[in-house]
Amino acid sequence: MDVTTLKKLRDWFRKNAAELPWRPADLDAPRDPYAVWISETMLQQTQVATVREYFIRWMKRFPDVETLAKASEEEVFKYWQGLGYYSRARNILKTAKAVTLEERSSDRVHKKTLPDSRKELEALPGIGAYTAGAILSFAYHQREAILDGNLVRIFSRLYALDFLPTESRDAAEIYWDYAREVADSPKAYMHNEALMELGRTVCKVKNPDCTNCPLRNACRAALENRTDEFPPSKKHMQKDWHGTVLIVESADHKILAVHGGQKFFKNQFTLPHFESPRNATAGLPAQAERYIDADKVLSVENIGKFRHSITVHKMECDVLYILLSTKVPKRTAPDIRWVTLEKAKEFFANSFSLKALERLLHRTDKP
Ligand code: SF4
Repeated sequence: MDVTTLKKLRDWFRKNAAELPWRPADLDAPRDPYAVWISETMLQQTQVATVREYFIRWMKRFPDVETLAKASEEEVFKYWQGLGYYSRARNILKTAKAVTLEERSSDRVHKKTLPDSRKELEALPGIGAYTAGAILSFAYHQREAILDGNLVRIFSRLYALDFLPTESRDAAEIYWDYAREVADSPKAYMHNEALMELGRTVCKVKNPDCTNCPLRNACRAALENRTDEFPPSKKHMQKDWHGTVLIVESADHKILAVHGGQKFFKNQFTLPHFESPRNATAGLPAQAERYIDADKVLSVENIGKFRHSITVHKMECDVLYILLSTKVPKRTAPDIRWVTLEKAKEFFANSFSLKALERLLHRTDKP
C-alpha cells in the first residue's frame, strides 16, 4: 500500500474510530499489553458488541496479570461464561501464572506484564501469531504485522487475490507479505487497527461501502467493479500453469536473484520466471534479456522440470541454466542480487526457487 493510501487510512481512522473500552481516547498512546491480550482473546470468534460488557466486567475483577494469576479456574470461568470456547479462558489463566512465575524468579526489573518479543509471546499458552502481533503492535508499538479475517478480506479485494491464505503456505506468505508491508512503518499500530476497523465497518463481508472507503482509489476489486468476487467463497478449481525458471550463473559462480516484476513472489527475492508454452523452443528466451546481455551468454541448457503448487496454480516449470562469460557487474539495480550457490539455499525463502536450484545441484555433469 503506498504512503498516500496509508495516510488516507489513518485520517479515516482518526475520524471514525469507535469508542471501545479497550481503546484509549488517544489513538497514538501505547496500550496496556494485558488489556490488549484480554480483549483480542475475547474478540476471537466473538462480536465486538458482546465482548464490550465482558471486557469491562473482567477488567474490574482482574485489572492486571498478577491479580488474574491468583484467581481460581472456577472464578475465571465464571467471568468467561457466555463467551464460549472455554479453552481460551483456561489458557489465559495458564499464561498469567507462567508470566508471573517467571517474573518472580527473574533478576529482571519486575514488569508485571507480558513479554515484548514474538518468540516469547508465542511460547505462551493460547497466544498465536495473530494475538502476539496485536500485543507487539498495539502495546509495544513494534513494526509487527497482524492478519485476521478483516485484513484477509481487505487484501483479497485490494489486490484482487483469488485465493485464501489457508490454501497453502505460499498463499499464506503472500497475505503476510502484504500485512508486513502495512506494518513497515512507525505507525504500524494504527495501520493494523485501522484495517481491522475498516473491515468491520466498511469493507464488510456483504455489500462493502466502497463509496466511503479511504482505500477505494487503490482497490482493484472496487475499480473493476468485482467486489463480490473477493475473497473467493469456495475452493477454486486448480489452474494449470506452465512456466520457465531461469538460473543465470556468472563467471564468478553467482546466481541471479530478482525482486518484483515476477508472476509469483512479488515481495521477495526469487529466481526470474515467466509463463511459457510447453515444449518452448530452445535458446535464450527474450524475457532473459531483461536481466542479462545476450552477447555475454556462453550457454543455455534446459536442465529439467519440476512441479509445484502456488495458490490455485498447479505448475510445471522448465529450468533453463544460463552460463555467462562475465563476472557479476560492479553496479546492479536495487531489485537484483547475485548470490553464491552455497548461500542461495538460505537466501531464497520460497520453495519454488529452491526446487529449481535442486535441478542444478543434482545435475551430474555440472562443470
Ligand atoms: S474500496 Fe470497497 S472493496 Fe475495496 S477495500 Fe474499500 S470497501 Fe473494501
